[in-house]
Amino acid sequence: MRRDVRYGKDTCIACGTCGVIAPEVFEYDESGFSQSVLDNNEGTQAVPEEVAEDVEEAYEACPSGSIKLNDTPFKPKTPVSN
Ligand code: SF4
Repeated sequence: MRRDVRYGKDTCIACGTCGVIAPEVFEYDESGFSQSVLDNNEGTQAVPEEVAEDVEEAYEACPSGSIKLNDTPFKPKTPVSN
């Protein structure tokens, strides 16, 4: 199943969990907030199959619900709300 990932920086609490679980997908900016490296957090590129399980685990582990997954691409430039 196709999964697209994006996260909401406005709710991220910079806990570091997602980068530990899925370091191929999540990295942190200079303030410690997460960002998806797949497509600059646009959420329009399918998660590669080899890291899909890790992304699902990070999604479930995120304590603030900031990681968003979709079965179809997110609309470009659409802000993520929580
Ligand atoms: S797990 Fe969630 S709250 Fe923690 S750094 Fe990642 S996106 Fe932010």
